[in-house]
Amino acid sequence: MGGTREERIVQRQRNEKWKSPPLRIEMPECINCDACLRACPPQFGAIFNFGTEVVIIPELCSGCDKCLPACPVNCIYPFEEWQSTGYPNEWWSEPGSSNDPYL
Ligand code: SF4
Ligand code: SF4
Repeated sequence: MGGTREERIVQRQRNEKWKSPPLRIEMPECINCDACLRACPPQFGAIFNFGTEVVIIPELCSGCDKCLPACPVNCIYPFEEWQSTGYPNEWWSEPGSSNDPYL
């Protein structure tokens, strides 16, 4: 399940084979430079501009860590508790939309 990015967007589920937790951006520390967004491999395409924020959608994030060295302020962290903590459902308006930077 969730083998392709398109499937993950429709199902809103991570690839069940992914063992690493997704990452999250600590918003008060983020300087909105978009470097992480460009570093995220298109087959994952997990990072989006949402309003004035830069966000990672956990179901699309494989935990590959490719965004980590791109961040000049080291404000990207593991998000182990994403399923219990949750995040704004509105973020899902971005993947697959005309604003989707990975399409
Ligand atoms: S860990 Fe990988 S998939 Fe997740 S946001 Fe960073 S670059 Fe994208
Ligand atoms: S690279 Fe770091 S500072 Fe830049 S937008 Fe991403 S999380 Fe924010």
